[in-house]
Amino acid sequence: MNLDNKDLKDLFALADEIGKKRYHKLTPQDLEDYRQFDRWRYIDGNYKCGTTAVSQQWARENSDWHCPVCGAKFATVGGRTIDHKLPRAQYPWLSLDFRNLWVICQPCNQEKGERHWYEYEHYMFIYHRDRYADIQLFRPRELLKSLKARK
Ligand SMILES: [Zn+2]
Repeated sequence: MNLDNKDLKDLFALADEIGKKRYHKLTPQDLEDYRQFDRWRYIDGNYKCGTTAVSQQWARENSDWHCPVCGAKFATVGGRTIDHKLPRAQYPWLSLDFRNLWVICQPCNQEKGERHWYEYEHYMFIYHRDRYADIQLFRPRELLKSLKARK
């Protein structure tokens, strides 16, 4: 399957459709996945990224010294954060799906907020056109393929 721009919107419509269906039929396993992420990433509700040894390690292995969005050195902008490409509020069962995670800096994470990936790409295209091509490289292609296959 070729995930180019023209079918991006269709894929997100599909992801939303699946998301909404699941959202209204949340299973105990969905909520457990959500809690597992908190246990993996945070200890004692500390929202600093990677407060467990395992998640710290993961964040280091999945980033270099610079934020892939803004290019700032992590050390100068408050460190690494682990963000969900498809937001947890909408996709709790993808909380701990590693294809849905990426490492970005605190200010970029805040700016992205609860935007869906498609909305985020659109936002970057409008407000940060110079970074748009970089963002596209991080599109969750494998995850979208799996959502499509599940339907
Ligand atoms: Zn950044």
